[in-house]
Amino acid sequence: MHDVVIVGAGPVGLFLACELGLAGCSVLVLERDPEPGSPWRADPLGMRGLSAGSVEAFYRRGMLRPLLTASGVHDDPVPNPDADEPSPPRGVGHFAGMVLDPAEVDLAALPFRLPNPAMDGVLTNLEAVETVLSERASELGVEIRRGVTVSAITHDDESVVAYAGEHAYAARWLVGCDGGRSAVRGLAGFEFVGTEPLFTGYVMLGTVADPDGLSPGINLTPTGMYLRMPTEGHIGMMDFDGGAFDRSRQPTLDHLQTVLRRVSGTGVTLSDVHLVSSFTDRAMQTTTYRLGRVLLAGDAAHIHSPLGGQGLNLGIGDAMNLGWKLAATAHGHAPDGLLDTYTRERHPIGAWVLDWTRAQAAVMRPDPHGQALQGLLRDLLGTRDGTTHVFEKVSGSSIRYDLGSTQPLVGRNAPDLRLEDGTRLGELLQDGRGVALDFSTDRRLRDAATGRQSRLRYAAGAARNDLGLGAVLVRPDGIVAWAGDRDVDRKAFERAADQWFGKSGI
Ligand SMILES: Cc1cc2nc3c(=O)[nH]c(=O)nc-3n(C[C@H](O)[C@H](O)[C@H](O)COP(=O)(O)OP(=O)(O)OC[C@H]3O[C@@H](n4cnc5c(N)ncnc54)[C@H](O)[C@@H]3O)c2cc1C
Repeated sequence: MHDVVIVGAGPVGLFLACELGLAGCSVLVLERDPEPGSPWRADPLGMRGLSAGSVEAFYRRGMLRPLLTASGVHDDPVPNPDADEPSPPRGVGHFAGMVLDPAEVDLAALPFRLPNPAMDGVLTNLEAVETVLSERASELGVEIRRGVTVSAITHDDESVVAYAGEHAYAARWLVGCDGGRSAVRGLAGFEFVGTEPLFTGYVMLGTVADPDGLSPGINLTPTGMYLRMPTEGHIGMMDFDGGAFDRSRQPTLDHLQTVLRRVSGTGVTLSDVHLVSSFTDRAMQTTTYRLGRVLLAGDAAHIHSPLGGQGLNLGIGDAMNLGWKLAATAHGHAPDGLLDTYTRERHPIGAWVLDWTRAQAAVMRPDPHGQALQGLLRDLLGTRDGTTHVFEKVSGSSIRYDLGSTQPLVGRNAPDLRLEDGTRLGELLQDGRGVALDFSTDRRLRDAATGRQSRLRYAAGAARNDLGLGAVLVRPDGIVAWAGDRDVDRKAFERAADQWFGKSGI
């Protein structure tokens, strides 16, 4: 009997496996595909943008360098992480195909942005992400079994059993990370609700006989959208057919030719198609992420269009949020209700991402209403406030969980606070424990923090920039659980530590 069985060795299942392995759980990952890697996971089709928030998750687990190497990124994402002032972002991305200028981001509106080695997004691919994560998972003792398709589960108050063919795999907890068409979701009886699509999307690698007929980059047209990527023949399309194309059919060359000519408004000729897949902007989310001993994370819990490149980032955020909570629960030292905060915190973020993609689909509609909205939004998003707003959303820096505190940092991703000796918060988080950072001269939190040292790391010293704080309590997922002013209130710290890490001495 394992502590946790994870169904699906995609990026989210593997990230979660690493989190659980790091926390000392016994973990078995069951994966349908017999072999890792496929043309859909390597460049160019597997290309994915990781937001700064996701890159920071890799940094906080000591996986930033391996991620950059595997992704073929040779420059550091941040030229000088030791600077006193944060560097401006290198990119903001787009909203509804409207590319935003990073020079317009107002850094003064981001008071908690401190320099760190992972402040910017990284362009990677699924294969790189999965390679780094599966290597780390194996080092942490996680077992990954491939060629295993889970087709049934049973669960009761004590355990969960996953079935694949004649094999049964028992665990105390099961997490479905089995993607947008999740079997676990249906088998466990999760309710999945949302909205029907406006369009069918296509992504393909083919040969265009006259490629210069297509403009590079994202192109909104009076009849839809097409995207010409830098790799020759790598094309994306959005066809506003109400999502009518049946995904169970493989699109033919003729069909793709017709759609490409329609959405591009050109007469280009598609002479060959090597790989193609279709998707829609159907936006659905389960009403909870937990039913008894079965949980969901990643695309298994939420599906939406890839507009704005959010799905992987959302899923990594789920895994980071769930890992330490499930581990504490499995080890029996979780404070009451800790596991239920997973749905409470992550469901609203998923709902927001669904809306963010819905808004883009609505704006991109190739009709007079959509075009009127595009004009209005182009004006608004081009302003300093508009660009900063989008940046905060897509980088993950606007995420704030409601932890019941009015202190402005509580519930947010912690800035990468640094002690005078150069120690960074991101490095202190690498063993998966929470961190109590104590800037007070009399080390006021030492005893309270060290009583929980299996779950909480204590570090003290003067800060390079303390942001006006005397101490900070950071959860293993990098979220600020409590922050005190320079006259540190030890009792308030203890209450927060009890709430998130359990009583001292256990
Ligand atoms: C064209 C496109 C571009 C995108 N671009 C971006 C981007 O730039 N940024 C971003 O953040 N997101 C992007 N996304 C979304 C992102 O790819 C997904 O959100 C992400 O891959 C989801 O990861 P996952 O681990 O939840 O699911 P998956 O990657 O789908 O992994 C699920 C795994 O479960 C396995 N599995 C399924 N069923 C079973 C079963 N019954 N038993 C055992 N194993 C099973 C599968 O084989 C698979 O390995 C894009 C998506 C598309 C389609």
